[in-house]
Amino acid sequence: MNPKLLFWVPALLRLGLLFALAGMVWWWLGPVAGLSLALAAVVTAVIVQLSYLQKLGEWLEDPGTRLPDGWGTWTDAFARLYRMRRDDTKHQAELTEWLARFRQAMHLLPEGVAIMDDVLFLEWCNPALERHLGLTMERDKGLRVTNLVRHPDFIDYIILGRYEQPLTLAFRGRKIECRIIPFENRRQILVTHDATDTERIEAMRRDFIANASHELRTPLTVIVGFLEIAMADPGLDVAIRTAHLNLMTEQAQRMQRLIQDMLTLSRLESDEFPLKRERVDVKSLVESIAVEARALSGGRHHIEVAVDGPDVMGSMEELRSAFANLASNAVRYSPDGGTIRLAWSRGADALSFAVTDCGIGIDPEHIPRLTERFYRVDKSRSRETQGTGLGLAIVKHVLLRHGGKLTITSQPGKGSTFAATLPNTSLPA
Ligand code: ADP
Repeated sequence: MNPKLLFWVPALLRLGLLFALAGMVWWWLGPVAGLSLALAAVVTAVIVQLSYLQKLGEWLEDPGTRLPDGWGTWTDAFARLYRMRRDDTKHQAELTEWLARFRQAMHLLPEGVAIMDDVLFLEWCNPALERHLGLTMERDKGLRVTNLVRHPDFIDYIILGRYEQPLTLAFRGRKIECRIIPFENRRQILVTHDATDTERIEAMRRDFIANASHELRTPLTVIVGFLEIAMADPGLDVAIRTAHLNLMTEQAQRMQRLIQDMLTLSRLESDEFPLKRERVDVKSLVESIAVEARALSGGRHHIEVAVDGPDVMGSMEELRSAFANLASNAVRYSPDGGTIRLAWSRGADALSFAVTDCGIGIDPEHIPRLTERFYRVDKSRSRETQGTGLGLAIVKHVLLRHGGKLTITSQPGKGSTFAATLPNTSLPA
């Protein structure tokens, strides 16, 4: 039924009953008694209503207390108020839960988020933004963001309001990407992202492509040059032609080695080729590497082998490539007559394959960079000895995949030790 009718019908019925009773008294006992009864009834009704109004007022002062019981229309009014309060409590609980969930999500978000008012005063920010821009929510709340982040690029970005593009800020040694999104009531959301790693990877990718192109271009230029000479002069002397062909073969082999090393590196870094462990007989492996090193040396060096370690679980192919690279470097960077020692041993915490030479050695400033792709201390010596500049990068990645690491110690002019260590967990069960 219509709620208005629900209210009026019982009220009018009660009033009608009262007047009917007063009419009967008037007819039976006379007009004075009838009117007195009607007046008394009206006064009582007013007092009852006023007392309920007072109860309602008291309850409104402190809505946490129990709702009073009602009579007549008040029963319905109090019942409705009770339902409203119950729904309200439920909504409040839901809202509190949502807020807690939202706070937790914002705490875990790697992106920084801040809300600023229309005049750029900080209203709220999450911990990631505190880290990115060096703010502290408790301390900086209510302060103007442009006073807190005093970077000219950031201030220009906000003043000019060109928000279509994000701004990359060099801030405290990191690259922070900032984006501003306007929203309701001219408020603004500031979103930050730490792009340091992405930028570094991007720079490495650019460098790698530039270096690889450069490395491939040099032998190609030589080959193309000789081909042009051969085309221009078909009657070229046979001895000269043979010399040119030999040089072209050398350059083509150089490109082949380079491409082979690049493919090896990309395979080592790819998730598509997970490490396949097998039992590796390191003694035989080191001995076969010594044979290859002696062949490369052509009798110019004295190569010693000391194997005192056990077999390991790892990739035979990868460990061969890493250990052989270290041995070949020792030969290539040691003057004739030097001694090179290949040693496989088991220490207290790790297993180690160490290659010690009495070669040219390395200045300390170069050591941290030797495993970077195409990094060479002496470019011409590396090329003369057919180096690709990728050998130690391959060693590093192989060892990383095996949970190991490369340690380099060197004294310029005296020699170096390159030690590839593998964790004891590589031991067969
Ligand atoms: P490359 O193909 O040029 O040898 P690597 O990655 O194997 O490339 O080595 C990087 C650089 O480290 C070399 O160019 C060389 O300058 C230096 N290097 C590596 N091994 C030795 C060593 N045993 N003695 C001195 N320098 C070395």
